Amino acid sequence: MCRVLSVLMNFKYRYFAGRSFLMLTVLLLLCLGTSPVWADRDDDSDYDVIPEVVQLPDGGGKSSGSSDKAKLKAQPSVKAPPAYTQKHKRRDVKSSPSGGFPWGNYDRSKNNQTKDDAKVKLKPSTQAPPPVKPSYGSGNKSGGDNKAGGSQERKSAVRGSSRNKIAGTRDYYGSGSASSNTKASIVIGAPKKLNFTAKNRSFPVSLRTTGIEDEYLTPVEDGGVKSIAQLFGLSSWQWDAGAKKLTLRKGASTLSLQEGQLDLPESLGGRHLEIGIRQVDGLYYFPLSIIEDILNVRVTVRPAQGKGWVEPLITNVYLDGSGRNLVLNVKATAPISYKTFRLNQPNRYVIDFYGGVLDTTNLRIDHPEMGDIRMGQFSLAPAVTRVVVPTTLNIKITPPGALSGQSFAFNLGLPKSDANVKFAQEKLLKYTISGSADGNKSNISLQFSGPVQYEWRRLTEGGNRFILDFKRVVFPENKLMRDVKGDFVNKVRISQYSSAPMPVARLVLDLKDSVSVKVGRGVGGNCLSIDIFNQVVDSSMTALRGEGSVTGVSSLSGGGRLICIDAGHGGSDSGCIHGASGLMEKEVTLDVSLKLAEILRARGWRVIMTREDDRDVTYAGSSNTEELRARAEMANQNNADIFMSIHCNAAQSTSAEGTSTHVYTHSDRALAKCLHPYLLNATGRYDRGIHQDRFYVLVHTVMPSVLIEMAFLTNGAEAKLLSTDEYRLRIATGLADGVCDYADKYLSK
Ligand SMILES: [Zn+2]
Repeated sequence: MCRVLSVLMNFKYRYFAGRSFLMLTVLLLLCLGTSPVWADRDDDSDYDVIPEVVQLPDGGGKSSGSSDKAKLKAQPSVKAPPAYTQKHKRRDVKSSPSGGFPWGNYDRSKNNQTKDDAKVKLKPSTQAPPPVKPSYGSGNKSGGDNKAGGSQERKSAVRGSSRNKIAGTRDYYGSGSASSNTKASIVIGAPKKLNFTAKNRSFPVSLRTTGIEDEYLTPVEDGGVKSIAQLFGLSSWQWDAGAKKLTLRKGASTLSLQEGQLDLPESLGGRHLEIGIRQVDGLYYFPLSIIEDILNVRVTVRPAQGKGWVEPLITNVYLDGSGRNLVLNVKATAPISYKTFRLNQPNRYVIDFYGGVLDTTNLRIDHPEMGDIRMGQFSLAPAVTRVVVPTTLNIKITPPGALSGQSFAFNLGLPKSDANVKFAQEKLLKYTISGSADGNKSNISLQFSGPVQYEWRRLTEGGNRFILDFKRVVFPENKLMRDVKGDFVNKVRISQYSSAPMPVARLVLDLKDSVSVKVGRGVGGNCLSIDIFNQVVDSSMTALRGEGSVTGVSSLSGGGRLICIDAGHGGSDSGCIHGASGLMEKEVTLDVSLKLAEILRARGWRVIMTREDDRDVTYAGSSNTEELRARAEMANQNNADIFMSIHCNAAQSTSAEGTSTHVYTHSDRALAKCLHPYLLNATGRYDRGIHQDRFYVLVHTVMPSVLIEMAFLTNGAEAKLLSTDEYRLRIATGLADGVCDYADKYLSK
């Protein structure tokens, strides 16, 4: 049993009605504050342009607002996972398809990425960065990247910009098909002493150029690099002259590289090197870039200046908190420092982080009122990362007390209201209200002129009402009131609830009873769909508020049943491991999940996956709860019909064996009853049956959900089976058959 999944939560809100979508989602959404919504915009027109960043500060580094330090800790903010940004370390670069926002554009159904694509490894470019042109970065370099569709291209574009225009140090592309045509000729230069700077200290480092852009060779026993590595937490540096093997350790991570070996360990991302450890003029050298992989730093070398820098990465910049009290979080892989100052016209608050290289895919955080928080690489070598907060709204900013550290929290207090603020507006263009023939379901579909954020509330006092507020939305009519056929909604009303300072259009459903209401993206872009089911939920257990957004891209085009497949573990979390072979649970679960997705898509299903490659769903080093919450949230936010989490079991005893299915609610059990026989038939192993467990992802998903333990990775025979392609395919096929059987029995088309 995986440790992560045993996170038991004391939530009692889950109600058994299969479609009672509201309850837990809402609690989760409440926890998340207003955050995830903003990440989900589709206007990427100016991702590459950060005008604020280009301009030099006039005032210099004056800190402002620091008188308010006392308030800093006042708010034990409801922790949200960093929805906006992803850490984007080198070792993570290959996880491009989902390298964006966990709650971002889930048009992953378009992503016909196969297992092979997922395994495409990326490596440093052998070329100088290509000239900046509009097409650059839109997935024209990587075989793996190209197939992933719109949102993928966007991620690539962002990465392109951050790598080449802003970060500017390095570019990556897939090695798959690309590498064969782009072999660089390796030309080893003469040894040269450079003066490296790390944490404000100087170190002499001996380097040879290699003919490969951004790759240098350094003697395996170079004292300067060793000292720098130590400064960044390297605990052990071993050169085994007999085995010609260099082993670097930092914390629990180990990087071993043998002469000639070009693939880095999978545990560190499995990056492919252009050049390995080799002997030159009787001395052994290693590729300098590997210290980036083990240390989580960026190495910048300027041979012409005789200088180099080793600097931490800024891996996360995100907003959390809620309502009018937000927290801007910045996280780095090692201590950095900051200064702040203000700029005018327009008013903005600038935070410069010294010594940190920006390493995120997302260069802005959109907030409906405040505007975009933008970030960029202000300078490199040495690195200054600039984050700009728009302050036209008179935001009260309380910076963190410590001017240096690895983690910063800036409290942003939004004004209660500000009549002078002009908000961008969208129009409610169209609405349709329809009911099913049997009167058991009604649907309201709303079409907006652009992306829109909404909040909803359920009122139980004085009648059952469901209220949706659309921010920044103008409703062209005075008021719309309509009766709805069916025995569970009395009326639908839409009106302009407020016009200043921020226009809000309000939709109110007068419910006859506390029936299920499901709010989600419509089929088209900028479209919201509200389903009302004649299915009574228990008001005392129903969540009362929530929020979401609609964007220009429909989350998943077309109809069809929607399954959310969760490949257990991933990235920094390997899951259980078969000791003898080293086979990791995260590999097996991903492969089976990808196979299952492919089969189901071929059968007309819409599929979203919590991950499609070897990565953390949130960010490396995230807590178990953050990670699991993100997975459940993904299913909830996309209104999946089914959630399936795929795992391998583990036990102390190597004789433990068999296949089991885990459930939490009654509706889960119905799914499990359909599924389990198919699964068991596919695995052909001992039947451990269906168990009820309070696993996080089961408790926190609001649709029928199951967790599959295919077999034991700690059992030699089962691990061997799980290592084969045929066996994995057999399981995937069995799961697909079971899911289809369930859908035919229980899901509407
Ligand atoms: Zn597991």
